[in-house]
Amino acid sequence: MQNMAPLSQDVLTIPRKSLNGPTNLIGLTRTGLRKVLIEAGTPEKQSRMRANQIWQWIYAKGARNFDVMTNLAKPYRANLKNNFVLDVPHVVTKQVSEDGTRKYLVRIEGGHEVEVVYIPEEDRGTLCISSQVGCTLTCSFCHTGTQRLVRNLTSAEIVGQILLARDDLDQWPIPGINTREPRLLSNIVLMGMGEPLYNFDNVRDAMKIAMDPEGICMSRRRITLSTSGVVPEIAKTAEEIGCLLAVSFHATTDEVRDKLVPINKKWNIATLIETLRTYPKLSNSERITFEYVMLKDVNDSDADARRLIKLIQGIPAKINLIPFNEWPGAPYQRSDWQRIRAFSDIVFAAGYASPIRTPRGEDIMAACGQLKSASEKAKKNSIRAKSVTPAQ
Ligand code: SAH
Ligand code: SF4
Repeated sequence: MQNMAPLSQDVLTIPRKSLNGPTNLIGLTRTGLRKVLIEAGTPEKQSRMRANQIWQWIYAKGARNFDVMTNLAKPYRANLKNNFVLDVPHVVTKQVSEDGTRKYLVRIEGGHEVEVVYIPEEDRGTLCISSQVGCTLTCSFCHTGTQRLVRNLTSAEIVGQILLARDDLDQWPIPGINTREPRLLSNIVLMGMGEPLYNFDNVRDAMKIAMDPEGICMSRRRITLSTSGVVPEIAKTAEEIGCLLAVSFHATTDEVRDKLVPINKKWNIATLIETLRTYPKLSNSERITFEYVMLKDVNDSDADARRLIKLIQGIPAKINLIPFNEWPGAPYQRSDWQRIRAFSDIVFAAGYASPIRTPRGEDIMAACGQLKSASEKAKKNSIRAKSVTPAQ
């Protein structure tokens, strides 16, 4: 049963209402929020205003309880308390790497765990978030791929990762000043655990919330969704989310890509490339990022670099070369630095930006493809691990 690539609706998604207990207001779209408020007795005429007020408390001010919502009358707040909750995933542990990368182990409904990684850089701070517990796909170089899919994350759990990182980074605006400088969390990448396009609706709703100007206010150009190549969902991503796209390309022949990224058997390189051609125009974005993991003697030859250039001809693109990050039992080795540089030079000479991604947070297993929940992970000594409780 290896390499099965189910359609997104085949994957178990927990509907908000089916979770035990009251409805979580976090993760609802604006329309969804209004709807549940009306159902709980808010007069329809007032519902837009009430939804706006609550929205701002949650996403612009970081509220996690109804008592702080002082511009709502006390009885109204009491009614909210009776009907709803404001739940974000619980941070179980936080690890800080020698290079400043932070990795949060986060517990979600059902006791499952996912990882969220914050990567500080000079000019930006990027949060790498997860979309699924595990992954249905089985890319042979990816640690997450060795863990079976447990379930899709809800939109609350996806946007909740951003909220809890804002808590930890102390990024909520100071009352009266309304800003928080410097902005430590400026970018989001959907490059954590899971295939975001197999959880399309929840990822879309969560990103719409993140982009909303009256809340987290993240520009769509600062959100990058990475896919292994779920072709039918790519045009939808352009139309319904409009964020930047990264594609896990990793090979230049179907023979090799079938092995590395088995979804290639379903949608091969030619089909994928054809779909990618339309993405920049559809999403009104400049270019696509091609991710290319550098595996020693597997996909890293000069001939590969030249084939890659030929394949992507005509697509506005940047090639992100990712030195393979090892994990216990991994069947591959990282290409030598000299080889990675030679590959990069060929791509660069053809007119494409070809940055080599500096591995971050390796000492805490937070680098690309090293994420995996449960306690199987190797831990090294240079870790500072401490338990934290999200701010209320
Ligand atoms: N499922 C999505 C997003 C998560 S993976 C996808 O596959 O695109 C994020 C990126 O990390 C992908 O480009 C993936 O190919 C890469 N990656 C996975 N395992 C890796 C490893 N061991 N070393 C380096 N990059 C890896
Ligand atoms: Fe899943 Fe992406 Fe890992 Fe492939 S690389 S197994 S799609 S998380």
